[in-house]
Order: sequence, then C-alpha cells, then structure tokens
Amino acid sequence: MLKTDILIIGAGPGGCAAALKLSQLGIPSVMVDKATFPRDKICGDAISGKAVTILRRIDPGIVERFEAATTEQSSMWGIRFGAPNGKRIDVPFRPNYDPINDHKQGFVSKRMDFDNRLVEEVKLRSNIELHQGITIEKYEQTPDGYLVSSSDGSFQMQAKLLIVANGAHSAFSRHHVGLEKDEKHHAGAVRAYYRNVAGLHPDGFIELHFLKEINPGYLWIFSLPNGHANVGLGMRSDFVSQRRYNLTKGMLNIINQHPLFVERFKNAELLGKITGYGLPLGSKKRQLSGDNFMLVGDAGHLIDPLSGEGIGNAIYSGFIAAEQAQQCLLQHDFSAEKMKAYDIRVARVLGKEMEMSYRLQRLLTRSWLVNFTTNQIARNPNLIYIIAEMYTDLEVRKKALNPLFWLRAFLRK
Ligand SMILES: Cc1cc2nc3c(=O)[nH]c(=O)nc-3n(C[C@H](O)[C@H](O)[C@H](O)COP(=O)(O)OP(=O)(O)OC[C@H]3O[C@@H](n4cnc5c(N)ncnc54)[C@H](O)[C@@H]3O)c2cc1C
Repeated sequence: MLKTDILIIGAGPGGCAAALKLSQLGIPSVMVDKATFPRDKICGDAISGKAVTILRRIDPGIVERFEAATTEQSSMWGIRFGAPNGKRIDVPFRPNYDPINDHKQGFVSKRMDFDNRLVEEVKLRSNIELHQGITIEKYEQTPDGYLVSSSDGSFQMQAKLLIVANGAHSAFSRHHVGLEKDEKHHAGAVRAYYRNVAGLHPDGFIELHFLKEINPGYLWIFSLPNGHANVGLGMRSDFVSQRRYNLTKGMLNIINQHPLFVERFKNAELLGKITGYGLPLGSKKRQLSGDNFMLVGDAGHLIDPLSGEGIGNAIYSGFIAAEQAQQCLLQHDFSAEKMKAYDIRVARVLGKEMEMSYRLQRLLTRSWLVNFTTNQIARNPNLIYIIAEMYTDLEVRKKALNPLFWLRAFLRK
C-alpha cells in the first residue's frame, strides 16, 4: 500500500498553497484532485492582494510568472460601489495609485487559468506528487493516521496527516468533523461570463452594486482580459430561502431591465451558461482540525462574509497548515491537541477580519444607511482615502470600528 506523511486532498488554491509551502520547507507531500487541470471553478475570479502577498511569501517567482501571462489576468486598482439610491463611488485600493509603476493590488483571472497556473507551479516542484482525476470518497481512521481511498478503490493511501482542501462541498468536513451548512453563515451565488459589457472602469475597478431590488445581496461586474467580464449575483442563503429567491432570474432581470444596466448590457453577449455554487462563510467559528487532519479554505468555511472573498483565505490557511505540518513532523505528534495551534493561528490572522466583515455585512442590509454613507463619502474625498486604506491596512479597519474615528473623518474635509 502507498504511504505518505502528508496527503493533501484538493488542488485548488488552498491545497496548492499548502503543497507549495511544504515544498519550500523541503517537505514532500502527495496531492490528489478529482479534476484534471485545467478545470473551471464557479467564482467571481477576483484574486485579492492578500492572495498575491501570501503567494509572494511562498515564492516571488510564482507571482512573477503569473504576471507575465498578461492575457490571463487584468489588474484591479479599486472598487466601484453602487448604493441602493443609484449613487456610485470609486474607491481606489491605494490613494494616488500609479497603474504603470505600482505593485499590483490584485487581479481578475478566470479560475480555469489561475488554478491551472498554481497546478503548473506544483508540477515544477519535484517533492510534490500530484495525482489528478481521482475522487477521494472513503476516509478510515487508523492508528497511524488515515487510510483514504478513491471511489472505485483503485487509489489507496495511508497518511499520517491529511490536509483537507476539497472545497465547499467537502464530505470530510461535513461527515467527519460535523461542519454542517448554516444558512445564516452561508451564501449562494451565480455567475456568468459576458463579452462587450459597456462602461467598465478603465483601471479595472471591480464593481459591487447594492441595489434595493436585491437587498441584502449584491451584483458584481469584474472586468477580464479580451473584453470579457465576470458578472454575478450573491445573497446570504437564509434570505434566498426565506424569499424563495431565484438568483439566476434575479440577475437576468437586473441586466435586462434595470435602468442602470440595460444600456450597459445592450450589446453584451452571454458566453456559456449562468451557473451557481455555495459559499461557506467564516462568520461562525468552526473547528478546523483534529487528530491527524486540518481543514483548509472552503472546506474549513473560511470565506469572508462581506466580500465573498475566499481565495486569499484559502491560500493563507494552506500556508499556515503547511507550517503546522512541519511542527507536527518535527515532534512526531499529529494529535488533536497538537493540531489546535492551527485553529488558534488561523483565528489570530483571519478572525478579527471575519468579525469586522460580518458586522459590516449586517449593516449593509439597511439600505438607508448605505445610501447615507455613500452620499457622505461622495462629498468627502478624505473618506474615500480612509476607505482605500481600510482595504490595504488591517489597523485602519480596526480603528474604523470606533464611531469617533468616523466622526473625526467626517469633520476633516
Ligand atoms: C459564485 C462565487 C463567486 C466567488 N467569487 C470569489 C471572488 O471573486 N474572489 C474570491 O477570492 N473568492 C470568491 N469565491 C470563493 C472562492 O471560489 C473559494 O473560496 C475558493 O475557491 C476556495 O478555494 P479552495 O482551494 O478552498 O477550494 P476549491 O477552489 O473549491 O478547490 C477544491 C478542489 O478540491 C477538489 N475536490 C473536491 N472534492 C474532491 C474529492 N472528493 N477528491 C479529490 N478532490 C476533490 C476539486 O476538484 C477542487 O479542485 C466565490 C465563490 C463562488 C461560489
């Protein structure tokens, strides 16, 4: 029977980050994915600055090679917010940014391309053994860890440690760890690719529209290379259920009928189908590890509850899981007790952020408040710069929880 110290299940951003970090530490691993890459993943395709920063930390070459593939990604320099009253504001990620000379703050890249790039990076490293086209279905706990098997039994491997990164529908998370879907901490979203959407921002600002028709959800439009755009609509699952809301119909209604979008989509062409998927949000603290395993990315319900951003958190948690695995190997200890350090570290680096995002997510359900704030921001450039800093500086985000901080900002025009 095949044996390994570390088996990573899922070669999405979370699994790849774990494998690449382990490789950098000189630790071999085996990674298995049910898909054969390149494969699609339903997503908004926005790769945040956080994702880029952690990949750079693993190996700056990964980001350099990705940036060199200019036809696969467009840079994003900020966010265009649309308030329920129709007002729009543009918030750059950095005040006075220079798109030519500044370090890129993030990208939009089809997951077909981005995930494949990560897998190509994995293939460059001789100490990662990658198996594609294998669906892991059976997990059996043994005295030495886990024995995992594929659906048809043709693949079997004994591992001391599992890094489970198999996404939002992870059966392991659900059945072995008990991470059930909680609709208040889960979102549904649909997305589609379009060609020729008019009125996109020249510097690729990603667009988030909080329209009153879909409150508390939002519509996004993210600009891609070659005149393509990723367009989607997301909403917390409890609201979707309560209203029996059809996300696909909702999105098409807006695109085809809403006065703000009709003209922009007049000549747009839908490429392929509109498809949906779930987002397990990190607004509820979950168990992330136990004897001989750690959960990474969506398998650990680590998506930001405000923005729906999960790629950065998947990469970050994969990075931390790799460092934790190194400690476990050094001390020959894969016990739940030892593994708790992983949960603690993930909570330390992502917990505060999730908490703040959750508070903001709940505030955004109040249209009047969003309208009021947008009007104030539109009149006060100082506020735009503060919000820009909130994206790049966690300290500013923490200060923003204090009402006095905002009072001072409003007064300082
Ligand atoms: C509509 C939508 C829009 C989104 N927009 C954004 C966005 O713009 N930006 C952002 O940052 N995040 C976004 N997200 C979230 C983001 O897609 C996820 O957070 C991210 O993909 C998580 O990465 P991951 O590696 O944990 O899981 P995944 O990317 O889901 O990778 C899991 C991998 O595991 C494999 N796998 C699954 N089951 C098995 C099995 N049994 N055996 C073997 N392999 C298996 C899969 O084939 C897959 O390759 C969006 C999500 C949705 C649904």
